[in-house]
Amino acid sequence: MMTFEGLGIDERLIRATTELGYVNPTAIQEQAIPVLLSGTKDFIGLAQTGTGKTAAFGLPLLHIIDAAEKYPQALVVCPTRELCLQIVKEVELFKKYMTGVSVVAVYGGSSIGLQIRDLKRGVQIIVATPGRLIDLIERKAINLEQIKYVVLDEADEMLNMGFQDDIEFILKNTPQRESTWLFSATMPPEIRKVSKRYMNEPKEVTVGKVNMANKSIDHQYYLTTAQHRYETLKRIIDFNPGIYGIIFTRTKVDAQDISEKLTREGYDIDALHGDLTQFQRDKVMGQFRDKSLQLLIATDVAARGIDVQGITHVINYELPDDVEVYTHRSGRTGRAGNQGICISIIHAKEAYKLKQIERINNSQFHKLDIPSGKDVCRKQFFHFMDKLLSTDISHGDYETYVPMLAEKFAEVSKEDVLKRVAAMEFDRFLKYYENAEDLNLRDKGRRDASDRNDRGRSRDRDNGRDAVRGDNRKEYRSGSGGGHSRLFVNLGTKDGFFKASFLQYILDMSDLKKEVLGRIDMKDMNSWIEIDKGAAQQMIRSLDGKNYKGRRIRMNDADNGGGRR
Ligand code: AMP
Repeated sequence: MMTFEGLGIDERLIRATTELGYVNPTAIQEQAIPVLLSGTKDFIGLAQTGTGKTAAFGLPLLHIIDAAEKYPQALVVCPTRELCLQIVKEVELFKKYMTGVSVVAVYGGSSIGLQIRDLKRGVQIIVATPGRLIDLIERKAINLEQIKYVVLDEADEMLNMGFQDDIEFILKNTPQRESTWLFSATMPPEIRKVSKRYMNEPKEVTVGKVNMANKSIDHQYYLTTAQHRYETLKRIIDFNPGIYGIIFTRTKVDAQDISEKLTREGYDIDALHGDLTQFQRDKVMGQFRDKSLQLLIATDVAARGIDVQGITHVINYELPDDVEVYTHRSGRTGRAGNQGICISIIHAKEAYKLKQIERINNSQFHKLDIPSGKDVCRKQFFHFMDKLLSTDISHGDYETYVPMLAEKFAEVSKEDVLKRVAAMEFDRFLKYYENAEDLNLRDKGRRDASDRNDRGRSRDRDNGRDAVRGDNRKEYRSGSGGGHSRLFVNLGTKDGFFKASFLQYILDMSDLKKEVLGRIDMKDMNSWIEIDKGAAQQMIRSLDGKNYKGRRIRMNDADNGGGRR
């Protein structure tokens, strides 16, 4: 039987793993470690979770990095914050007897400020989720210049989650990369592509059977509040620019309403429900089939019997009550050997249904973070640039225009042209998502103030729910406690607010409790809010300058400049 000594691992690491109860290396460790210890060979390990992959790359990394140098030398990229934390925890255990080695986790949904501080301390190994890592790269808060080793863990999961462009971006941003180690449970063609593009004759090892379960459909879910369902749906669509999908609703009213709303906002969608005539139904289906419609929104009854090839995503706007219905809906994607994604938007009370579906369907759900506004813009940007690069210019008379174009653009640099093209295409997204809030339903206890600023403003659900009942709230006594201020805001009933929804909105945005509020006076275009003096600035900070349906919110102290009646 092979031993860790036999694999050539540093004695201090062997001491630590022995303490952890590791006697013999697992199959993937046995095959990977000798290759990875060379530090210069690319590697693909096909192995499922639970086979000892973390040690398979963690031990060689710790063995080959230079502890005397305090800059990042190794980067591990993985799909979720949970995995990120788990990897760091294990690596910490492995390095117990090594001094001067530091490992840090960077992942979304947590304070970026604290992570930047950790990075500044001088670390050799970074374990990261793609979105946060790119945030840090863009902020120039992370130095990947001297990264020699990049590990892509659960690479298939990362691709399933839509991180392909991000991964390529990360690989391109590690100019000194000497070796890339890719671990994956499955080997879809996209991974082959990445490996062909970024790896050099990788040594490939398969351990056990490559995971075949649920191979064609990835079941994902996003957790949000009920009132954010629609926004979340939009974000999912925007985050998947090439989507060709069916959205399922429970009722025809929902199907119709959402379809109309999305159409008004420029999406390529139509609805299929029981109120349509056969002619209308055939027309919608014809358009969807020939892909002149990108999205179809349907009720279960209306969608019965639809068989369309190439559907990339099924989205459950709400989970159905019946597991069979879920199976039926999700089965519209992942057909004929293609991969498909089934996304469910759920709120906290529906979580138990996921377990039921998992049990009965023998499948597993993956929880994903709802992409931030920035994630969406980045995704759209990459998509557009890919489209630009793959545009067919072989036919047509473009050549004849070249001299004219060259003359017109003589004074403009290539970079400027690219920037202008991007601006033309992205203005809508950038504006819309400029101050996009965090739609994820997060565990409140885990957040801190900087975290909230990090991915847009989060909302306090309980405040929101109470706020709906805000009309029976305790009588606000002007001048009680520290006194009160009166705020002006340029939002009113014309913006579609009723008093309760307005109250809910301003409390959600500001993370304040309803008790700080007094009288609210709403007009068509503007409103006046009485608020405890101590809370006034927080409310102004949270709302002033933000966007509401594309309009810039102006909020200020009504008695202190602006907004007087
Ligand atoms: P992983 O696939 O890295 O998540 O590892 C799965 C579990 O196996 C973890 O709890 C590891 O601590 C454990 N493990 C990894 N390698 C070994 C080994 N060589 N001997 C015993 N346990 C191991």
